[in-house]
Amino acid sequence: MPDPTQTAKPAADLALIEPVMMVIGGHKIVTGDVFAVVDPATGRPFANCPLAGEVQVEDAVAAARAAFCGWAALPIEQRAAHLERVADALEARKHDVAHLLSREQGKPAHSAALGEVGGAINWTRATAKLRPQVEVLKDDATGRVELRRKPLGVVASITPWNFPILIAIWHIIPAILGGNTVVLKPSSGTPLSTLLMVEIANEHLPAGVLNSVSGPGRLGSQLAGHAGVDKIVFTGSTPTGRDIMKHGAANLKRLTLELGGNDAAIVLADADVEATAKKVFLKSFGNSGQVCAAIKRLYVHDSIHDAMAERLAQLASAAIVGPGDDPQSQYGPVQNGKQLAFLTGLAEDATARGGRFLAGGLPEGKGGGFYFPLSVVVDVTDGMPIVDLEQFGPILPIIRFHDAEEAVRLANANELGLGGSIWSSDVGEATRLAALLECGSAWVNDHSTISPDIPFGGAKQSGLGSEFGLHGLYEYMQMQTLRLPAGA
Ligand code: NAD
Repeated sequence: MPDPTQTAKPAADLALIEPVMMVIGGHKIVTGDVFAVVDPATGRPFANCPLAGEVQVEDAVAAARAAFCGWAALPIEQRAAHLERVADALEARKHDVAHLLSREQGKPAHSAALGEVGGAINWTRATAKLRPQVEVLKDDATGRVELRRKPLGVVASITPWNFPILIAIWHIIPAILGGNTVVLKPSSGTPLSTLLMVEIANEHLPAGVLNSVSGPGRLGSQLAGHAGVDKIVFTGSTPTGRDIMKHGAANLKRLTLELGGNDAAIVLADADVEATAKKVFLKSFGNSGQVCAAIKRLYVHDSIHDAMAERLAQLASAAIVGPGDDPQSQYGPVQNGKQLAFLTGLAEDATARGGRFLAGGLPEGKGGGFYFPLSVVVDVTDGMPIVDLEQFGPILPIIRFHDAEEAVRLANANELGLGGSIWSSDVGEATRLAALLECGSAWVNDHSTISPDIPFGGAKQSGLGSEFGLHGLYEYMQMQTLRLPAGA
């Protein structure tokens, strides 16, 4: 995995991309320090980004703290109205945000990047409609007890490089709707589109409600250990999640951790090969496999294993992988060089252990970019790194099984537990097996489908808490019981 604590050296011949700046307390912040952002399509820096230091992190937390009381006191309908205006403003600038997103993340501008920004806008609108409920827990002769929810305070949001805009929106919209104020730190691999999004949002929010700081992982550490931060919402790798938990312990920070996944999909003998292969393909390789809940291990019954593997390999071989600004590209490069090296190492190791690539398997050095073709590998088993580890890239290992219960056992024999799925024409049997999967989300004849009204979160080492819907909103709120005299 990339070293998240480092940023690339600033490139002397590059300017800051105007007008992308950090926003702290409603002001655009100019820093003397910058770091370079690399274009995954060329492997070369294409822009400098403002680099926050400890001072800016302190300022951002102070600004969020100062804005908290006023924001929390606003009726939720008014907070929601601000968020509706944020959605409208993002809609008006969606091509600008998508352009930067594609350039720094690698995904095709016209499809995936625009789709991500569109998804973020829809998510903003849907989330802004949520309203916390007052629950009456008891109302009898002994009294009435209500369960209410209040904002927590200052929320720090720390995001990864695979879906920088969508994941930031998943964090900040429920936090802000719930009456909290936010300091957002994007990944140093993909900071620019997030900074632009925060600038746009700030045109429709009171000063200090949403602040941004850009830089390496140590800024995230500083936020995790900061006494002025009440909650961390983090999406990223499991080791970083553990580190955040450690630093957050000092003031018992509330935590939502959305961490890694190594999702298994199990295809039973009676599945329709053609229909299943097409859908599994989409759910494995979207965003070039850099999806937390992508299918990362495919268990297929012996009787249809070869047909499934061949069809998936055909689909993978036909896919067009290229630069994000080429309208022909269906998939982009992986986001960074360390991730490319990690994938290359996994593929080489799999081949050395007897794995057979039916599609892809070797990096492609097109123009210095971080290209790895969509790859399908068979003759691999549990116990090999290509199966046991989260690849987080466009390689799908296919594992043959004879007994469905044994496949479920293998799916569960992994420390991660984000998602899992069963594919079959017998929905009853698939449902029975899906319920046995040790993961936060299970699907039948589908995988990784999410929506703003359905909670999503990890089991085991894939995370803590959940996002989306009322369950997700409540993660940004403190429960308070209110006891009233009988008849009140
Ligand atoms: P990462 O953990 O390396 O970095 C994520 C963010 O944390 C970045 O902003 C980084 O600067 C920051 N960070 C790094 N070290 C830190 C520290 N010690 N304290 C605080 N912050 C720190 O993850 P990544 O490589 O950017 O993302 C890939 C990982 O994210 C994969 O494992 C993937 O499965 C996971 N992910 C999970 C979900 C989910 O919803 N479960 C979604 C997307 C990605």
